[in-house]
Amino acid sequence: MPTPAELSSALDHLAAIHRLRHRHILDSPQGRVLSAADQALLSFASNDYLGLANHPEVVAALQHGAAQWGAGAGASALVNGHLRPHATLEQALAQWLQAEAGLLFGDGFLANVGVIPALVGRGDAIFADRLNHASLNAAAQLSRAQLHRFHHNDMSQLRHLLANSDAKCKLIAVDAVYSMDGDEAPLADLLQLAEDYQAWLYIDDAHGFGVLGEGKGTLFEQGVLSTTSPLPEQVVVMATLGKAAGVAGAVVVGSQSLIAWLENRAATAIYTTAPPPALACALLASLALIRDSTARQRLQQHIAFFREATAGLPWPILPSRTPIQAVVIGEDGQALALSQQLRQQGLWVPAIRPPTVPEGSARLRISLSAAHQQADVAALVAALWQIAQS
Ligand SMILES: *Cc1c(COP(=O)(O)O)cnc(C)c1O
Repeated sequence: MPTPAELSSALDHLAAIHRLRHRHILDSPQGRVLSAADQALLSFASNDYLGLANHPEVVAALQHGAAQWGAGAGASALVNGHLRPHATLEQALAQWLQAEAGLLFGDGFLANVGVIPALVGRGDAIFADRLNHASLNAAAQLSRAQLHRFHHNDMSQLRHLLANSDAKCKLIAVDAVYSMDGDEAPLADLLQLAEDYQAWLYIDDAHGFGVLGEGKGTLFEQGVLSTTSPLPEQVVVMATLGKAAGVAGAVVVGSQSLIAWLENRAATAIYTTAPPPALACALLASLALIRDSTARQRLQQHIAFFREATAGLPWPILPSRTPIQAVVIGEDGQALALSQQLRQQGLWVPAIRPPTVPEGSARLRISLSAAHQQADVAALVAALWQIAQS
């Protein structure tokens, strides 16, 4: 870590190794076509998988919500910031995910770092996939439980670690869909292991909610749960509400007693102002749109078309049936150059570099969305082929 005096040379070093990152200002709402730096860009960068971030019905619900319930919640949920729209939304999301109850958080990062330390602490153990999201790693550190990381999706290593642990309370934590790869955790196997070793199974479904399993998420896509099966009591599901749902926030769902425990012990839901109630109103509109499969069908067509049309490109495209399509380039500088070339052709495709992904696996992370038109995806594919052949 740099001292204050060392900051500028540390930044220069990052730039020299192609690791300096900065934000780009958008001069338009999130959507398929963005305006940035006086350029119109076709975007394959957002997590707005269903095109709800600027959907007229969601925007109208936000406006009406603000008119009826005001701009801010004014207090933490436990004091007096828990308004009717929050309660209605929690109930609607719990019901949609077939859980007994739900608890809202300001965002997914806060949900992870609040819930996991509320369930495990000193003397307990967390079993985490190596490719888990940074917020799950932060949650593990904050909890002070012993952290065992297993190789990506390696269930035999996980079984071995669980069998050899004498921790009082065990928690397995995974991303359901891996955010930089687009592949999925084997949830049926994980649930079996959780049962065999009396562990919690914590599923971060940031990228599955709204998209997979008819909108109910990865457990449903994989057939672990059907529309008639309740969420098992040792399972905790976290769904973020800023990605497919297009707004902001996160919900954690589980058993009645789990949620009552979290209401009392999850620091990031207790010592923080409740989200603006209008956000809950907007999210109720999002949920209604998620229930309708039209956007999801369009998205699935884009995914199928993209995979078919890119077969044979010189770069490996990781297996994925999700909107996250990772084209692995390898070297940081090369991934950046490719992203730059696409940008010159009016296409915004981010290059993702370490430490977000493992060393030597810099990649283009293409996000497809129901907001795209078929011609948009065709334009991206054509640009990739043209670069590959030049
Ligand atoms: C985005 C993401 C989060 C954080 O959610 P926010 O609501 O954006 O804070 C957590 N986990 C995973 C896997 C994510 O991709």
